[in-house]
Amino acid sequence: MSDTVTRLETTRAAISRAARDFGRKPESVTLIAVSKTMPPEVILPALEAGQRVFGENYVQEAKAKWPGLRERFPDVELHMIGPLQSNKAREAVELFDAIHSLDRESLAKELAREITRAGRAPGLFVQVNTGEEAQKGGVLPADADAFLLRCRGVHGLAIEGLMCIPPAEEPPSPHFGLLAKIAARNGLKSLSMGMSADYEAAIQLGATHVRVGSAIFGARG
Ligand SMILES: *Cc1c(COP(=O)(O)O)cnc(C)c1O
Repeated sequence: MSDTVTRLETTRAAISRAARDFGRKPESVTLIAVSKTMPPEVILPALEAGQRVFGENYVQEAKAKWPGLRERFPDVELHMIGPLQSNKAREAVELFDAIHSLDRESLAKELAREITRAGRAPGLFVQVNTGEEAQKGGVLPADADAFLLRCRGVHGLAIEGLMCIPPAEEPPSPHFGLLAKIAARNGLKSLSMGMSADYEAAIQLGATHVRVGSAIFGARG
């Protein structure tokens, strides 16, 4: 087995164990294998081992890598997890099955327009900047309820869930807990939270989608 496949199996087992530990069904947690910066030949063993849900951060990179892989694996599900420029909304709606970085009105408006135009709607996650970090995307926790109302009411968007990236230097659990609380009071069932270092804690606090890169594909260059 390739290193990637070994690490993928290890990650899958850890996700199942964490889910069961916290009284959840393993299949209630979707593993998004984050393949940003990884070339197709590194991704291929994961596909051959049955992994079907992948995350990418850049529209251009995903456009270059995935159409070829998708010809061979048509049931792949591709998630956009990186910041999305409004002028890339059209390409993103065409290429991705889910977008985790909806965080501003201008993007909501563009996505609504492109979803109507394309006749297909990716699953949408609103990103919340739980750590209120200046350099990070996401709506502020205090603005989340109002933003969700506008996404739904003004732009007619169906919102699937929330996403967060806790500050690197802080314990992540309070951030996961805050995201879960905002989701619950807004009637949202999906929580995209948890990465290589902290997906078990995220599962404990209700993650439905964990985004795991380096624990599967190894360190990025
Ligand atoms: C890169 C990235 C990940 C994966 O990070 P790892 O620490 O390699 O698991 C998850 N989420 C987002 C938003 C990312 O940009």
